[in-house]
Amino acid sequence: MRLRNKPWATKLVAEHPESVLDRPDPKRKIDWTKRFSDFSKPLEIEVGSGKGQFITTLAQQHPEKNFIALELQMTAAGMILRTKLAKGLTNLQILCADAANINCFFAPASTNVIYLNFSDPWSKARHEKRRLTYHTFLKKYQEVLQPSGQLEFKTDNAGLFAYSLKSMNNYGMNFDFVSVDLHHEQSEFAKTNVETEYEHKFAAQGNPIYAVHADFEVK
Ligand code: SAM
Repeated sequence: MRLRNKPWATKLVAEHPESVLDRPDPKRKIDWTKRFSDFSKPLEIEVGSGKGQFITTLAQQHPEKNFIALELQMTAAGMILRTKLAKGLTNLQILCADAANINCFFAPASTNVIYLNFSDPWSKARHEKRRLTYHTFLKKYQEVLQPSGQLEFKTDNAGLFAYSLKSMNNYGMNFDFVSVDLHHEQSEFAKTNVETEYEHKFAAQGNPIYAVHADFEVK
């Protein structure tokens, strides 16, 4: 999803450095303790938050946790910020950056959950390395996650889902929950599921939603 540049978003981001880290230097450590009022709360990161429906809803539902929206596009970051400010979400920070550097931005074993929602499929074989479930990304998530931390992935794209299951399996991850039709099953995860923008759109078109929760723990 490429959003058209919106000047108001760039301006809003520039006015709120306390809420948005705009393309920080990956070589410099980020002191998250200064950006959250209580950094001892569990930390959850969404990679590729888009306009932020999912992560702002979670942040509102769970004041007992801290959340990061990691998003490449400035316009999307501005949209997430607008919602954060409107809802007064002090437990949400926005990181406008490339997920390829996630392990530079967060300390090892600092994170409880990483969410990947409707990630760009990069269907062509020559673009495999850009998929957010390619093994180089999995390695970085593993570094950042606590040993029992979860990677939670949702998509409507059957090809990307099959690829991601293979990639996670080859990496030695454990599958804790798998669904090939999240919206039409009775599990606890399905009942508490928080929809993203893409999920809402694709489910309304009748597409099944695929989901997997996996961890890196050696069992
Ligand atoms: N998660 C949202 C949803 O489900 O509605 C948005 C999905 S959209 C298809 C994918 C988002 O991931 C886009 O906003 C894009 O800018 C972001 N993205 C793609 N690659 C990224 C990367 N390497 N680092 C951070 N964000 C990325």
